[in-house]
Amino acid sequence: MNIITMMKLESGMCRWPIGNPEDKDFHFCGEPREPSLPYCETHMRKARAPTRKPKDS
Ligand SMILES: [Zn+2]
Repeated sequence: MNIITMMKLESGMCRWPIGNPEDKDFHFCGEPREPSLPYCETHMRKARAPTRKPKDS
């Protein structure tokens, strides 16, 4: 298993945080991402997902 820590995180890698920053096994996703996006496709979807459902009134 490849753990992407802050030290290993490079540009071009998904910087989605995994785990609790206070834990020593905290790391980043590290999947390849689009140059214009901060996260990989999976995590872009998560980031874009609405936190609440739109009300239809
Ligand atoms: Zn990711």
